[in-house]
Amino acid sequence: MVAGVVLTAWACMPVPGRQVEITLGQAVALSKSHAISKLEVDAESGTMMMTAVVGDTPLKIPDARGQLVEITKDTELRANIASLSVADLQQLGFVLPENYSTNAISSGLVGMLLTFLPLLFLLMILLFVFGSRGGAQDKALGFVRSRARLVSPDRPRLTFADVAGSEEAKQDLLEVVEFLKNRWKFQAIGATIPKGILLVGPPGTGKTLLARAVAGEAGVPFFSVSGSEFVELFVGVGAARVRDMFAQAKRNAPCIIFIDEIDAVGRSRSGGMPGGHEEREQTLNQILVEMDGFDPNVGVVVLAATNRPDVLDPALLRPGRFDRRVALDLPDTGGRLAILQLHGKGKVIDKDIDLAVIAKETHGFSGADLSNLMNEAAILTVRRDKKAIGMKELEEAIDRVIAGPERKSLRVNPKDKETTAYHEAGHALVARMLPNVDPVHKISIVARGSMGGYTRLLTEDRYFLTASKFRGTLATLLAGHASEEMAFNEVSTGPHSDIKQATALARKMITEFGMSKKLGLRTYGAEPVPVGMERKDYSDYTARMIDDEVKEILEEAHETARKILRENRARLAHIANRLLAQETLEGPGLEAAFDEPIDESPAAAAAFSEREVSGKPLTVPTNRDGHREE
Ligand code: ADP
Ligand code: MG
Ligand code: ZN
Repeated sequence: MVAGVVLTAWACMPVPGRQVEITLGQAVALSKSHAISKLEVDAESGTMMMTAVVGDTPLKIPDARGQLVEITKDTELRANIASLSVADLQQLGFVLPENYSTNAISSGLVGMLLTFLPLLFLLMILLFVFGSRGGAQDKALGFVRSRARLVSPDRPRLTFADVAGSEEAKQDLLEVVEFLKNRWKFQAIGATIPKGILLVGPPGTGKTLLARAVAGEAGVPFFSVSGSEFVELFVGVGAARVRDMFAQAKRNAPCIIFIDEIDAVGRSRSGGMPGGHEEREQTLNQILVEMDGFDPNVGVVVLAATNRPDVLDPALLRPGRFDRRVALDLPDTGGRLAILQLHGKGKVIDKDIDLAVIAKETHGFSGADLSNLMNEAAILTVRRDKKAIGMKELEEAIDRVIAGPERKSLRVNPKDKETTAYHEAGHALVARMLPNVDPVHKISIVARGSMGGYTRLLTEDRYFLTASKFRGTLATLLAGHASEEMAFNEVSTGPHSDIKQATALARKMITEFGMSKKLGLRTYGAEPVPVGMERKDYSDYTARMIDDEVKEILEEAHETARKILRENRARLAHIANRLLAQETLEGPGLEAAFDEPIDESPAAAAAFSEREVSGKPLTVPTNRDGHREE
């Protein structure tokens, strides 16, 4: 093959019968939009020559350097395909012409031998090298190839329409899509696009989904790799993989590299993680080198995702590397509704279902949780032989996503059940009585997963949370404990996660939000580095004060809860008994439990206080006819 003379084509000058070098990405695009009339694949030199079907008006496309050139029907186009085979090209979405020529030896013993002899030789060397370090024989080959999976632009592609909510994030990424589509427009003006964009957000908020949607929108190849795949036992392998991946990407420009969970390699180097950190460091360095090394105009955009941006090495975030951040948060009520609607498409849902209610009930759910919820509801519907997903299935699906399936088979000890009933009734009653706490939506003592029962509040989205709201939340959290204590004169292990949650919240109020008068308006924090290596930015004396203050806040909240329960003990007993009879209280049944007139006679109160002392079961008549539909 003639080593192609690459003409420096002047922008927009029609040069008939000449040769133009274009990128592989451009070739794929051309083959789709204009078809290829002639194709020669030269496997030896790793190039392909082709001509495109063009009408009388010349076609303007960017060449390999991003400059606009005009091509006509007899312009010879050359693209570098490196070691890709014809099949690989097809994988990339290249539309092959009727007949094409290739000099690649497709099969046969000779071909095999010719291809593999040098590899065999290499293998032996590798075995020799790695053998002494043990156990790597079968992995030695292809070890340093990048493991990036190529998602070709022709696969069923995701678009922004597949991502619900997250409007700002989509807006931010739209720019990247524009760039990948019309690179030369940006270049003509002299604008450069960021090379690296970091998607930041909690697990399940759609980071991976969004990255794939960007590729889909732009219609470019998408190399996806997970940070943990770079980290191997052997020093240098990860770095080699990074090099290989960037090389592959540059050949396929315009394209997207997506490094999922980049924190696996990108952790701060000063953090000193024990074990294997030399390898990680080299891999990270290689990423930095590659990021610096390529010209943004080649059309490779690197997206990375993490839910721990705080542990990333600052070097990764410097200008010219991952200097843009796109934040994805847990969805708010509107976002949750949009996600529910999206995942409800293609499912048969009862006409009078109001997904907005479900959206309100699912505070704290991620997109992944919501998608899971819709699916669980559909499965339940099938299992119940119903035609359409109903409210019951949706409600049950929420419970399942939070706590796993009901443990019907589990025979709950009656005493445990009673304890749970008082515990949950305590949460619910205190939440109801305090002005700053969200409305109670549902109480249940049906055992699920590892949970005995739960009280669910209907959360309103608020941008700012106040100290008094936190205090209300703390009292509600500790009310389970207070109620058990009051009803049985004894406490179970039931409240342990409540206490843990309350402690964490109280600590946050003091150390992060400056809500303690004693400790004042400042933050107290340890730098986020691996356990055992925190560096506190406050003295031991202050640490002591923080501990004391946490205790005080918690005690105060506990007292608030106790006071409310003491003053409403008859109501507490009533709700607990309703729960014992009906297991789940929601809607009108729940309202009734809170509001219906009850026997507050001295006798009832006496029965209660007697039990407080003796721990004997309490017999307050239970209203069995409730509102439960069976
Ligand atoms: P992450 O990478 O942030 O952990 P993923 O992108 O893997 O989250 O999301 C997992 C799944 O959750 C997605 O495949 C999708 O079904 C669903 N999902 C998450 N966020 C959204 C969203 N905003 N819109 C629609 N579906 C979503
Ligand atoms: Mg992900
Ligand atoms: Zn509890």
